[in-house]
Amino acid sequence: MIEVSGLKKYFSTGLFGKKYIRAVDGVDFEIEKGESLGLVGESGCGKTTVGRLILRLVEPTEGKVIIDDTNLFELSKKDMRKLRHKMQIIFQNPDASLNPRMRIGDCIAEPLKLYKIVSKERMNDKIMELIETVGLNPEHVNRYPHELSGGQNQRAVIARILAINPVFIIADEPTSALDVNVQAQILHILRDVKDKFGLTCLFISHDLEVIKIMTDRVAVMYLGKLVEIGKTDKIFNDAKHPYTKALLSAIPVADPDVKRKRIILKGDMPNPMYPPSGCRFHTRCQYSEKICEIEEPSLIGNGHKVACHLQ
Ligand code: SF4
Repeated sequence: MIEVSGLKKYFSTGLFGKKYIRAVDGVDFEIEKGESLGLVGESGCGKTTVGRLILRLVEPTEGKVIIDDTNLFELSKKDMRKLRHKMQIIFQNPDASLNPRMRIGDCIAEPLKLYKIVSKERMNDKIMELIETVGLNPEHVNRYPHELSGGQNQRAVIARILAINPVFIIADEPTSALDVNVQAQILHILRDVKDKFGLTCLFISHDLEVIKIMTDRVAVMYLGKLVEIGKTDKIFNDAKHPYTKALLSAIPVADPDVKRKRIILKGDMPNPMYPPSGCRFHTRCQYSEKICEIEEPSLIGNGHKVACHLQ
C-alpha cells in the first residue's frame, strides 16, 4: 500500500545555509495494507522526520512516497488536501493536538463537519460512538482538554482521528508523554482500533517493548538510514546488525535469574552534518574492519534485510 523510496531530507544550516544536516539520507521500505511497521532508533536518528515526510508535513529533499499508485510528492497542495484525511498522525503530546479552547465533543465534531462525514442530525450519535470506541465516558464530551488527564486527551485525539475514516496512521511515540499505567491502556486501544478498522500503521518509537507488541515488522534506523528491517519476531530473536543487537541488549529483563549481556556502544551518535564514511556505524561498532570505513553497505536480504559487510 505504501512505498517509500530514496527518501531524503537535508536541513540547510550554517552561514548562508551552505551546510546540511542529513536527517534522512536515503530510506526505502514498504508497508502492506493492514500491516503495522515499527520504526526504531536512538533520538536524533531521523525516525520522526521520516513520519513527517510521508505525510508531507515536511517537504522532502528527494525521494518518493507512493500510496495506492500515487506519488504524494507530485501532488499539488489542493490534491494533497483531498488525500490528507486518509492519512493521520498521532503525536507524542496529546495536549498540543487539541484546541485548549474547544470542548472535547467540539474537537471531535470539527473534522466530521469539515469532511461532511455525517449529517447534523447524526452528529451527536457519531461523537458518542467514537467516544465509546476509545473508552471515554459521555460526560467527557463537555470537558475542556485541561480538565482531562494526558491519557484521556490521547483517547480524544484517537477519536478525532477515527472520525474521518483514515486508512493509514502514523503513531509517533504516542505513549512516551504518558504515565506508565496509562501507556498500556492507550496501546490496547490503538491495537483494537487498528484491527477493527483495518488500518495500516507506521509506529515510531524508541521503546522496543512497545514496538514488539504493536508491530508486524520492524525497521531499525541509524543516523538517517535503515540498517535492518524484518519481521518483528525475527528482529527480536535473530537480529543480525550490531546496532540492532546493541539496542536489544538494553531491554530490561523482568526475570532476576536471566542475565542479558548488555552491549555498550562507544561514544555518541555522530553529527548528521558530518556522517562517517563507509558504514555510518563504524565509529561505534566493535566488529568494524577496514572495508567498513571505506565502503557503505547496502541493505540486502530476502525479507529480512541487513546493511552490514559481515552478513
Ligand atoms: Fe559494523 Fe562493519 Fe557491519 Fe558496519 S558494516 S555494522 S561497521 S561490521
